[in-house]
Amino acid sequence: MTRIVIVEDEIDIASVVQDYLRHSGYETAHFSDGQSALDSIVASPPDLTLLDIMLPRLDGIEVLRRAREHTAHPIIMLTARIEEVDRLLGLELGADDYVCKPFSPRELVARVRAVLRRTAPGSAPGQAPQGGAPGLVLDDVHWRASLEGTPLNLTRREFGLLQVLSRHPGRIFSRARLLELAYDDTVDVTERAIDSHVKNLRRKLGAVSPLHDWIRSVYGVGFAWEAPPQA
Ligand code: CA
Repeated sequence: MTRIVIVEDEIDIASVVQDYLRHSGYETAHFSDGQSALDSIVASPPDLTLLDIMLPRLDGIEVLRRAREHTAHPIIMLTARIEEVDRLLGLELGADDYVCKPFSPRELVARVRAVLRRTAPGSAPGQAPQGGAPGLVLDDVHWRASLEGTPLNLTRREFGLLQVLSRHPGRIFSRARLLELAYDDTVDVTERAIDSHVKNLRRKLGAVSPLHDWIRSVYGVGFAWEAPPQA
C-alpha cells in the first residue's frame, strides 16, 4: 500500500486531508510538528510526504532541507501564501510540487497522484530519453529542436525556455527563475515577455503533438514541463 505522511499542525486540515487520502486508497500517518515528522521520515521514508511550512519545533523548510540529506522520496509542500512558493523556488530545496492554501482536498489528491505517477520507478526524469519527452531532441549547439522528427523552428528565446523546462519535468519555475536560467541576456526581457515566449513555444509543440499540453501554467507562480504519461 502506498504510504503518505502528512505534516500539518492545523488539525482540521490534517484530518480532512487524511480522510480524502484514505478514501482514495492510501495509507496515511500524521505528524503535527516538524521534528517528529523528520525523525519518522528519515527512519522510514514513506512513498510521499505532504509538508506544511509553518510548523512548531522545526519549520517545513528545515524539515525538507534535512530530509533531503537522507531521502529522495517525493515531497509536496503546503504553503499558506503564493509568495512563499517564490521563496522556496529560489532556495532550490528539491520539493516536488507546491500546493497553496486554501486548497480543495480533491485537488490535493489529484496532485498526489500526479506526483506519484511522475516519480514512480522507471519514470524518473533522468531516465526519460530527452527532457521527459519521448521524441524531443534538442541540439544545444545550434539551438535547434525537433519533436517526433519534425523541426520546431524555435527562436533562441523559445529554445532556451524549452531547454530549461523540459530538462526538469514537473519542476515549477517562477518567471524570475526562468529569466535567470533561460535567457543569457536579460536586458530587454520582462516577465510579461516570458509569457508570450511560452505561448509561442506551446503553439509550436502543439502543432506537432496536439493531444498533449506540454507546459503547465501554475497560477501566480510560473510554469512546469508536463511529461506525457508513459505508454
Ligand atoms: Ca501550519
